[in-house]
Amino acid sequence: MRVLLVGGGGREHALALGLAGDPAVEALVAAPGNPGIAAVAELREVTPTDPAAVAALAVEVAADLVVIGPEAPLVAGVADAVRAKGIAVFGPSAEAARLEGSKTFAKDVMIAAAVPTARAYTCEDAAAVGRALDEFGAPYVVKDDGLAAGKGVVVTDDRAVAERHAAECGRVVIEEYLSGPEVSLFVVTDGEAAVPLLPAQDFKRVGDGDTGPNTGGMGAYAPLPWAPPNLVDDVMRDVVRPTLAELRRRGTPFAGLLYVGLAITPSGPRVIEFNARFGDPETQVVLALLETPLAGLLHAAATGTLGAHPPLRWRDGAAVTVVVAADGYPAGPRTGDVITGADRAGIIHAGTRRDADGTLRSAGGRVLCGTATGPDLAAARDAAYALVRDVELAGSHHRTDIAAAAVDGRVTIPG
Ligand code: AMP
Repeated sequence: MRVLLVGGGGREHALALGLAGDPAVEALVAAPGNPGIAAVAELREVTPTDPAAVAALAVEVAADLVVIGPEAPLVAGVADAVRAKGIAVFGPSAEAARLEGSKTFAKDVMIAAAVPTARAYTCEDAAAVGRALDEFGAPYVVKDDGLAAGKGVVVTDDRAVAERHAAECGRVVIEEYLSGPEVSLFVVTDGEAAVPLLPAQDFKRVGDGDTGPNTGGMGAYAPLPWAPPNLVDDVMRDVVRPTLAELRRRGTPFAGLLYVGLAITPSGPRVIEFNARFGDPETQVVLALLETPLAGLLHAAATGTLGAHPPLRWRDGAAVTVVVAADGYPAGPRTGDVITGADRAGIIHAGTRRDADGTLRSAGGRVLCGTATGPDLAAARDAAYALVRDVELAGSHHRTDIAAAAVDGRVTIPG
């Protein structure tokens, strides 16, 4: 199988490692890729959000499968353009990707499918914002309606901060606050059949103890020792199957990766958000534990044959990833700093570039992550932090408490 992978972040590096490790993959091309991905794939230049350019590249490299990593190309219709060339593509149509591209559309689908989620209002002016904030009370949850790379959400007790964020965004979704630990559940689907991966937890806030602003994600671990045993079955029954059925009913079936972001509240799992692609950095830990060849699984989803795919196999043990972020991230990351100690197994490149002389430099907010597995969560955590300790990048920062509460048995479901 010849595979074209679109994207160039940490998620795509993790996908590239999985795809390259599948014996069925004879050639892996990544566009644009990154210096970490370059070790396992041929890199090609492309603008990932340009449907015609990606489709032309897929034809040129004779791809049997195109895997689209990030959300922006999906929302831009890249999967549709590739499919129109008769090439199998892992990633939903632009219509179905609205599940991520518009919070209002996602709420609409959830309500129609009776999926448990926070009550919410879409607001377009200050008066409507004020009414919604009054109704739900603090903590206030204010979300930009469009794509915002995980940074368009403000959760705050400060009414003025909530009002300011709403005013800056224009059209916002204001919703009820959901309390309880968060879970990311990835589901591979061809629109009809659906296969859940291991649930993972990520860490959205920049600082230890879940302090500071939201980020794209500062670390993750899997599996979840504290999760209720029936969690995945319940979410498949109450959330995933009704959502996929509703999208089929609308004539826009969702095929690709359905990311279900959940809060495990006292009254059960509630959907915080859907995404239309693998989450970053949870992908790093989930794929580190997946034993089933990745390209075969994604190809089955892309070709409507997932129902005939054998059950997934998982490695024993646990995986942890710790993100190393640039100075100033998330507000204003500094780029261009020299990185050393990063060319090692387990280091996933997220925002890096390489000079002609081989020097590695930071090129984004989340620069790289240390990803490790171990016989249990404590061992995986120690190994991930050992990787991160050996990386040198001026001004960088990382959280020191990724997976700590789970290791210590301190994650509890309220109520
Ligand atoms: P989203 O982009 O919708 O995933 O939101 C980013 C983060 O904001 C989530 O991972 C949660 O930590 C937090 N968040 C979003 N919606 C809610 C909610 N209704 N209640 C509590 N926290 C939320």
